[in-house]
Amino acid sequence: MVEATTRAFGSPSKYIQGPGEFNNLEVYTKSFGKIVFALIDGFLYDALNKDLRAIYDSSESDYHAEKFQGECCQPEVDRLTAKANEYSADVIVGIGGGKTIDTAKIVASSLNLPLVIVPTSASTDAPTSAMSVIYTESGEHRGTIRHKRNPDLVLVDTNIITKAPLRLFISGMGDALATYFEARANEASDSANFVGKGYRRCKAGMAIAKMCYDILLQDGLKAKLALKRGVCTEAVENVIEANTLLSGLGFENTGCAAAHGIHAGLTEIAATHKYLHGEKVAFGVICQLVMENAPPEELETIIRFCMQVGLPTTLAQLDVEATEENIRTIAHKVVAGNPLVHAEPFKITEDVVYNAIIAADELGKYYQGREAK
Ligand SMILES: [Zn+2]
Repeated sequence: MVEATTRAFGSPSKYIQGPGEFNNLEVYTKSFGKIVFALIDGFLYDALNKDLRAIYDSSESDYHAEKFQGECCQPEVDRLTAKANEYSADVIVGIGGGKTIDTAKIVASSLNLPLVIVPTSASTDAPTSAMSVIYTESGEHRGTIRHKRNPDLVLVDTNIITKAPLRLFISGMGDALATYFEARANEASDSANFVGKGYRRCKAGMAIAKMCYDILLQDGLKAKLALKRGVCTEAVENVIEANTLLSGLGFENTGCAAAHGIHAGLTEIAATHKYLHGEKVAFGVICQLVMENAPPEELETIIRFCMQVGLPTTLAQLDVEATEENIRTIAHKVVAGNPLVHAEPFKITEDVVYNAIIAADELGKYYQGREAK
């Protein structure tokens, strides 16, 4: 429980989303300064760097870019901070997925420079928050850094998101699906959010989390089917906003709970490493609802939604063998290795988590069996 009644809300200064907005990047960075230092995701570096060079060459701004080496770790942060210093950058731009974005946040924060984030997929809610997850060079989780400021601008080009692999978009829906249920758990237990040192949640945070969930149910399947054919519709735009802005503001301002706790536990099983963050979180949502003994209609809605859009609802779909040893390993990590599950409004033990995972897996199998008939 939080100790004081002070409530707080944090967010990026601006959020802009629409087709072709990437081409306006110079217009936006210009308001922060003339010298731009862009960190670009390795896979997209050649194409996007070429586009940006052409844009900046015909402007009065100076443009420098570096290719992200793939891990958000201290040596990479040091390398990029030195580069930004060498160019006397006025503004940092992070272009790519979660790790690229998190690294750009640390570089901007350590140099106290304005930060523009350009996500290249709608796969996580990392873009808007004032947090980075840092790893070792070999990819082991080291911890979370909370920055003083959120990004100054989050710029989402719908055309870029639409071209990203569909699986990333679906995984983003899995991550966004947790936001409302984790907000609700945090409200019930009156736990601290992720703003600054941690405060009570504002009503605004709760409303945003609920809106995120409503959009997924309304537009999730429509958006997935449209994107399967490579077209952008209003439903696609809505889900991009839900995955990026609403999920991001929602989790930062209301907190995470069992769904993300289960995600952390699942990562203990090596076979799950090939699955994306939001895919593991989606199964975590079902486990959380089982722990909370949610009404059957709510569980059914969530499981059916996951099945419709292509998110996992069973352990087998995450390549986890449902052995006692595996599930004990996951439950141990969830309870002892991570604080998130303890935001639930009741006492959590390893047995509670162990039993919930098995029951969630069985529910997933039950609905899959019904669908198959
Ligand atoms: Zn997440």
